[in-house]
Amino acid sequence: MAAKPEKVFYGSGVSAGVVLGQALKFESHTRLLLKVHVDDIEAEVRRYLRAIEASKEQFKALKSQLEEKVGSEHGIILDAHLLMLEDRSLNSEILENIRNSHANAEWVLMQATDQLVQAYQSLEDEYFRERHSDIEHVADRIQLNLSGDRPFSWEHLSGDQIIVSREFSPSDFATVDLPKVRGLVLESGGRTSHTSIICRGLLLPAVTGLRDFLSHVATGDTLLLNGDDGQVIVNPTPARIEAVRRRLEAFGAYPPDSSPAQFGTAALTKDGTAISLRANTEMLHELSAAKNCGAAGIGLFRSEFLYFGHPQGYPEMEEQLAVYRRLAREMSPYPVAIRTLDAGSEKVGGSPDFTQQENPSMGLRGIRLSLYARDAFLIQIEAIFRASCDGRIEIVLPMISTIEEIWQAKILIDQVRSKVRESVGPAIQAVPLGAMIEVPAAVFSLEVLAKEVDFLCVGTNDLIQYMLAVDRGNPQVAYLFQPLHPTVLHCLDHIAKVAKGLNKPVRICGEISSNPFYAVLLLGMGFTQLSMNPLSIPTIRRVLREIPIDVSRQIALKALTFITAQEVYEYLTNVVAKLVPWDLSSYAKEIAPQNGRNGK
Ligand code: PEP
Ligand code: MG
Repeated sequence: MAAKPEKVFYGSGVSAGVVLGQALKFESHTRLLLKVHVDDIEAEVRRYLRAIEASKEQFKALKSQLEEKVGSEHGIILDAHLLMLEDRSLNSEILENIRNSHANAEWVLMQATDQLVQAYQSLEDEYFRERHSDIEHVADRIQLNLSGDRPFSWEHLSGDQIIVSREFSPSDFATVDLPKVRGLVLESGGRTSHTSIICRGLLLPAVTGLRDFLSHVATGDTLLLNGDDGQVIVNPTPARIEAVRRRLEAFGAYPPDSSPAQFGTAALTKDGTAISLRANTEMLHELSAAKNCGAAGIGLFRSEFLYFGHPQGYPEMEEQLAVYRRLAREMSPYPVAIRTLDAGSEKVGGSPDFTQQENPSMGLRGIRLSLYARDAFLIQIEAIFRASCDGRIEIVLPMISTIEEIWQAKILIDQVRSKVRESVGPAIQAVPLGAMIEVPAAVFSLEVLAKEVDFLCVGTNDLIQYMLAVDRGNPQVAYLFQPLHPTVLHCLDHIAKVAKGLNKPVRICGEISSNPFYAVLLLGMGFTQLSMNPLSIPTIRRVLREIPIDVSRQIALKALTFITAQEVYEYLTNVVAKLVPWDLSSYAKEIAPQNGRNGK
């Protein structure tokens, strides 16, 4: 058989590394179902009931695998599926329809599913509307068991799978056998989408924004994925594979220093200035990486991941307390900044009060949602205060755009503090309050806002999105998401100056902290606290060791004089490359301005 022709595609490299593997199309199961007349109705009914029982067993097994892999708090996604399988009214309606219509169970189930999905999709409430995918997932499992097909199993797959999909949500990580996954290629998504952030945390090379890719690739095709420059080659020629192998052997796939530092050790610049490097985390299983990489605490715990797919819309107080307690205890004596629910945009489908919105990134999200759905906010704050007895905890409020939001939140926080103090007594600890600075309005009223809080966290992922009016997850405008845009630089410089003038601690929490070139720029502007994905900490620590603080100041001053991102890029990458004695070119690509629509 003739070899399949090689095809080359370009997207955005969002998680570094070069890998060779086999494509595995990750799509929901689609099948053509036909209506068949059934004579023995009771046999058909028994067939349906057997499929339900088999599905239950499989979901239970999946649940324990999921809990083992990504933490017990995520098993509830499958509890919701089990509840649906046990829904008596739905099952009796299906059984009745089988009996009345003499139709096969697959057909009757498909009709019932279509109706339910349509009904859910037309709901006003975004949380319930989003639940249609749970119904499809459950129905798909029953259909698999009815057809006698084996449910999709990773058991017989080799360990070199590259997942190819249109979309891949953070919760999809739970359904895959991670040790067998070498990379991820997506048609959607951008560098700062949460899926990309998780890939970087897992050191899983990934490319996103490859339009129409799925129609050019089949499961089993060989893929050569380059997460550094965004190139994906389908069915690469043997000569190409050999060339890449030789290159990888010569240079190594990963940056030179991955050697861990002791938990909590401060990074030092060449002249000995201490820089605090903390970790950004979403899930408990990242804590060991944070500790092994020497993080001086958690700079940002994205608590919305606890709410994701939760059957009630939000986790109860005890459930949250267990997670926050573990964070506090495991990171002790270093602090953990818990960001209150930042639902909205692409992160969480919704909560019970998260109403339908045309433009979720600018809608009822972050602190706005918490002040609207106060009961959920009060529960979260109570869990945080109770956990404060077990370590050093900080609260961070997301998406602050007005002083009133801080005032209102503080009234609620004070109420909860008094309530918790009554029950736990003096064990309750001081919990410093911080505000995320990630909306232009917050930057320009920084003095006023800063006086109301104990510290500031700069969320550059959102700040760049709102400052430049570029959706951070939209591959069509990814070329406009320019971290080196002079406006962004001036904005950050302003934040550093105001914070210094007020003597207010400030931490950069966006993805730019983990870029060595950008870290030098931030240092030069006066930022001495950075928070990033845990696995980037060793590299940033090593780069900072090469940089005298005075030199970084000169670099920042000069960078602020340019009027295009391209000029800043050329200057910054050249000057830092001369100070650091190893190749950082793969990091340069992360911040390189692209030329125009669709870049390359
Ligand atoms: C940010 O916006 O930069 C940030 C740190 O928060 P998130 O990426 O979760 O929006
Ligand atoms: Mg943000």
